[in-house]
Amino acid sequence: MSKYGFIVEALEGLKEQGLYNIIRTIGSPVGAWTVVDGRRVLNMCSNNYLGFANDERLKAAALRAIEEYGVGPAAVRSIAGTMTLHRELEKKLAEFKGTEDAVSFQSGFCANLATIPALVGKEGVIFTDELNHASIIDGCRLTKAGRVIYPHRDVDALAKALEDHKDAPVKLIVTDGVFSMDGDLAPLPGIVEVAERYDALVMVDDAHGEGVLGSHGRGIVDHFGLHGRVDIEVGTLSKAFGVVGGYVAGKREIVEYLRQRGRPFLFSSATTPADVAACIAAVDVLMETDEPVRKLWENARYFKSKMQELGFDTGQSETPITPIMLGEAKTAWEFSKRLFDEEIFAQAIAYPTVPKGKARIRVMISAVHTRDDLDFAIEKFAKVGRELGVI
Ligand SMILES: *Cc1c(COP(=O)(O)O)cnc(C)c1O
Repeated sequence: MSKYGFIVEALEGLKEQGLYNIIRTIGSPVGAWTVVDGRRVLNMCSNNYLGFANDERLKAAALRAIEEYGVGPAAVRSIAGTMTLHRELEKKLAEFKGTEDAVSFQSGFCANLATIPALVGKEGVIFTDELNHASIIDGCRLTKAGRVIYPHRDVDALAKALEDHKDAPVKLIVTDGVFSMDGDLAPLPGIVEVAERYDALVMVDDAHGEGVLGSHGRGIVDHFGLHGRVDIEVGTLSKAFGVVGGYVAGKREIVEYLRQRGRPFLFSSATTPADVAACIAAVDVLMETDEPVRKLWENARYFKSKMQELGFDTGQSETPITPIMLGEAKTAWEFSKRLFDEEIFAQAIAYPTVPKGKARIRVMISAVHTRDDLDFAIEKFAKVGRELGVI
């Protein structure tokens, strides 16, 4: 066997277990209806919560920025890559989030990789929810810090772990705000309370709360009225904001430190003028109006209630993320394939993104879905659900 034999075997294994990702290709702007693998289908799985991925205002801002600044900064932020646009975006994000300062990164993934190792060294301890996003897990792996993985959303277990490690010089609690695969919320008020008791830092990854929760989509901290009590808010500009990028908003000292020590800031080139300008436009739109956020929630409530009436298990979601729980990966893939035949684009999600046996189709509702779109989707889900004996 060649030296690639183990890879070939691993690929075969994925296929046998139904865990092999079918990667579909988008051939149009991302909207309610999107061209996927050459067919126009109803898009039910992009993170395009507010429809910003193809918004005219964002596109115009990106085009203007290309004319004014070109296509790339050709440097990392700390050497020659910080353009006036990057600073403008950071100021705007801090204003939007109601924090002292903000620093932007190339992605939400990078923001987590930048932040966790910068803040916690080998003397410190990280307390992390068992269902946290992969980028938080990897951020933890980049440190030599101690690690306590606490049961999902269990504040009592967290408090006990903090008590056990109360003498650690740095304690960092990190949690998804909205858990990305289930749509449930972190118990942030409880977390903040125990953190204050033990003098621990609190870091929340608001990737799916941004543009969704709180007034005008300001996120989970605003939703719970915890301004000033959460030390670090990680955000992404790649989901509700419709573009690409990530950021950290929080206390001035922390943000300043990340500009000095956040490794993706120091060692990976800055985001492009077009991206940054589009992000600025997205924040501007959201500060001006909460219309798309209200539409998103109206759509989400409608879809979820109809799916429940049909007998689908939609899990524990408290947000527009709507998992349709199907169990085995093979069922989920089959369901997704049948939906695609029916002009519905809704990808299956299986291990390792979610635990084994908890495969699902994760429906992402958008403000740009019309009521007719949702009714069309509901009808097709019902049809395929009956065919496959799920309902
Ligand atoms: C998507 C996601 C990220 C990564 O954000 P990108 O900007 O896509 O890199 C980080 N954390 C959570 C919880 C996410 O859902």
